[in-house]
Amino acid sequence: MQFTPTVIKNLLKKPATRKYPYEVREPFPMYRGELVIDIDRCIFCGMCSRKCPSQCITVDKAAGTWQCDPHACVYCGLCRDHCPTKCLSMKDVHRKPVTEKVTWIEHGNPPKPKVKAAPKAEAKAEAKPGKKADKKDGK
Ligand code: SF4
Ligand code: SF4
Repeated sequence: MQFTPTVIKNLLKKPATRKYPYEVREPFPMYRGELVIDIDRCIFCGMCSRKCPSQCITVDKAAGTWQCDPHACVYCGLCRDHCPTKCLSMKDVHRKPVTEKVTWIEHGNPPKPKVKAAPKAEAKAEAKPGKKADKKDGK
């Protein structure tokens, strides 16, 4: 008899579930849905790939490709949170169901590496080639 109040309460209140897909819940703030990338802002640093717990992101700076296996994504948002250029974001809806497995590939333009100027001492040594080799040979 101790369950009577709970039973009466459950009989009178609305069901806790919805008739999905006829009734869809409104997304709440900071909802983590489909991942989106603005590839033009990506610097191909690979941080998203290193932080992804399901290892579904592959970044190839040389080839300028950013790949994601959306079927392995667990919507944790770590890639988005750690992206230094904030080019990753998440929609407030999940991906639509598909019948085939697909890999999502984006092509971008990785920034060119900065060319370092040679230090002066090294530049001087390079200017006098063959001096040390002559001593070693003893000729
Ligand atoms: S998406 Fe962000 S974290 Fe990932 S490679 Fe591009 S800039 Fe780096
Ligand atoms: S949301 Fe999480 S699981 Fe999905 S790609 Fe980003 S880090 Fe990986």
